[in-house]
Amino acid sequence: MGCETKARNLRHAGCAGVEMNSDPRIQNSEENNITVVALGSNLGNSRDIIFRAFERLQKISDKPLQKSSLWKSSPVDCPPGSPDFVNAVVLLTPSPSETPETLLKKLQALEKEFGRQTKKVLNEPRPLDLDMIAFGNEIRASEKLTLPHPRAHERRFVLQPLSEIAADLILPGQKKTVRELLDSLATDEVLTRLGDTVT
Ligand code: AMP
Repeated sequence: MGCETKARNLRHAGCAGVEMNSDPRIQNSEENNITVVALGSNLGNSRDIIFRAFERLQKISDKPLQKSSLWKSSPVDCPPGSPDFVNAVVLLTPSPSETPETLLKKLQALEKEFGRQTKKVLNEPRPLDLDMIAFGNEIRASEKLTLPHPRAHERRFVLQPLSEIAADLILPGQKKTVRELLDSLATDEVLTRLGDTVT
């Protein structure tokens, strides 16, 4: 799956046409806080869980989700013996009244709905992990919420799927596009594309 940006002055966050005007950063108007959410699962039928999570995330997006492929990835910073993950990334358009905090609550409710328990061990296997990578250009550094997500720009399991739908996007706080970050990444993470998204 790929995505080519044809025009220099008209930037797109995704193949299906999230217009970024002349500014490749995430647009921060009240009406268009494009939000990047990373999905991961390494417990249960992860592929099925991710597809069902896409459907649930669609319900909290005002516009059709932009969805990456599904990718299998080796666990990073997880307890020894942790299963591989299935990962994906979506771009969603929150309603104008949504804030990062209200959206985080919805994402956490979804994680619970898919069976996530209160964690006993750091990064233990879970049916569904939802990370808010960015919410428009909002910045947060509270106990509950860090925006943009502090490690997203160095994670292949975020950048590789994100590059399918928003290669030219510049995440808040970064100078490089998603594609450039991916190209300059030096990690031993192994990612394998699992197949096309279900639309
Ligand atoms: P994790 O185990 O990786 O899902 O981390 C969950 C914890 O990270 C929760 O307590 C969240 O409040 C916190 N958190 C901080 N920033 C974010 C973010 N950008 N997206 C999701 N969770 C976040």
